[in-house]
Amino acid sequence: MSERISGIAASAGIAIAKAFVLQNPELTIERKSITDSASEIERFEAAISVSKDELSVIKEKANKELGEDKAAIFAAHLLVLSDPELVDAVKQKIENEKVNAEAAMDDVSSMFINMFEQMDNEYMKERAADIRDVSKRVLAHLLNVTFTTPASISEEVVILAEDLTPSDTAQLNRNFVKGFATDIGGRTSHSAIMSRSMEIPAVVGTKTITEKVENGVTVIIDGLDGHVIVNPSQDEIATYQEKQKQYQQQKEEWAKLVNEKTFSSDSVQVELAANIGTPADIKGVLENGAEGVGLYRTEFLYMGRDQLPTEEEQFKAYSEVLEKMEGKPVVIRTLDIGGDKELPYLNLPKELNPFLGFRAIRLCLEEQEIFRTQLRALLRASSFGNLKIMFPMIATLGEFRAAKGILLEEKEKLVSEGTKVSESIEVGIMVEIPSTAVMADTFAKEVDFFSIGTNDLIQYTMAADRMNEQVSYLYQPYNPAILRLVKMVIDAAHKEGKWAGMCGEMAGDPIAIPILLGLGLDEFSMSATSVLPARSQILGLSKEKISAHIDHILQMDTMEDVIKFAEENFK
Ligand code: PEP
Ligand code: MG
Repeated sequence: MSERISGIAASAGIAIAKAFVLQNPELTIERKSITDSASEIERFEAAISVSKDELSVIKEKANKELGEDKAAIFAAHLLVLSDPELVDAVKQKIENEKVNAEAAMDDVSSMFINMFEQMDNEYMKERAADIRDVSKRVLAHLLNVTFTTPASISEEVVILAEDLTPSDTAQLNRNFVKGFATDIGGRTSHSAIMSRSMEIPAVVGTKTITEKVENGVTVIIDGLDGHVIVNPSQDEIATYQEKQKQYQQQKEEWAKLVNEKTFSSDSVQVELAANIGTPADIKGVLENGAEGVGLYRTEFLYMGRDQLPTEEEQFKAYSEVLEKMEGKPVVIRTLDIGGDKELPYLNLPKELNPFLGFRAIRLCLEEQEIFRTQLRALLRASSFGNLKIMFPMIATLGEFRAAKGILLEEKEKLVSEGTKVSESIEVGIMVEIPSTAVMADTFAKEVDFFSIGTNDLIQYTMAADRMNEQVSYLYQPYNPAILRLVKMVIDAAHKEGKWAGMCGEMAGDPIAIPILLGLGLDEFSMSATSVLPARSQILGLSKEKISAHIDHILQMDTMEDVIKFAEENFK
């Protein structure tokens, strides 16, 4: 019998494959003194040998099923395990320092990871990731714990996990991972956002998926409607294959608009931009016909590593994005760490309410060296394209003035050193805190643009944690309270001759798009995969006609009233 489990549709598409239930191993390493180094070395060699056997099996399977190039990652992992520089260094440490194998392996692998990560070379950085994965595998054997990581997957699967951290998501191999479903999370949690930029069908917030499904069971992920079918019948598989085919055909229709600009049926032009997390996402931005980057979440450059990225590394990433976008607008957001995005190496104290805590601009204004390094990298990159700098989580005008002041100081320093810096960088803010939306008329006199971050604006306005699926019913983008705030921001910008964009998930939401067009939004920034459907939708909408309904909509009682009205009138 099949079972249907409902969740939140996080990334469009259908995936049908076997379940791979991901458990994160608890790798707590205790440092112990040992006396018998020979038997400790033997234990280490045994762990290496089982790890090699496992990897060889995985590699063979991947080779057979998916081809040599896709199996190459496992060959690289095997090479690490045979590398005398690493293996001998661990043995020597056990011998000379009389420490247990776990501690020796951890020390040596961390040393190599740090060394490779610091090198200004993508190939070496990938080696650091290989060593990290391999050392986890060996440590899991030494500690006798079960080991599964997304990187160890070697056949086509859908991943089921309690949650996927953004760095787990970044490790997913698209060749193997056809989709994923999680117990926790909402549409705007960062794993959901990443799944959209990677074009992997996903359902989040199912509450029970990992409890109910075992490894190897066939599962359908319906990322269009937000459910998972466990153990489907042949009929159900056929139905979903048909749905998958239709979705594919729909995508082919949308693809015809890839080189077009975006106009409403009454010829009002808007800009459709894409949100990115890394320079690698630019490929998808261009393939999906986005007219710019409306949000580059730079924090991903700081994650999944052991220390802060250098100014040089950042300069390279930012200039690469600007260059590849060939003069199209690129809004780069300064570091927005905190909330569900942690940087363990900063050793920040645990907070009870991380989303209300020391995050984003609050941290940057306090830890100024981190901020200044990023700003210098951005300013240096500015001559490579059309850069706009955006500060996240601005709650007061004082914060904006302080951040801009630091930016200008760094700019002056660079210019006096003879570095080329663009003279036309716009400096704007995210509007994601209600105080800033309410004060938008004041801000509009000083900022160059607004970008409304509805993921946070909705969570703060409704007081509903965006990560908590139990309160996900309060993620209400069409609630008149939110729409009124959005209107205040757009009107305030226009009054001062500035532009207003939106980079929260609401900007790509087909129910919200007509209303946002009617409200006068200038720029819509969304997951790259939403750009073409949005363009196709806007082509069929008359801004003038929708605008005539806006006052009426803003006076409605509930979100449900707004949805009903929008569905009946803006098709
Ligand atoms: C937002 O809050 O809407 C936003 C775009 O920022 P993030 O999702 O990265 O918090
Ligand atoms: Mg935000």
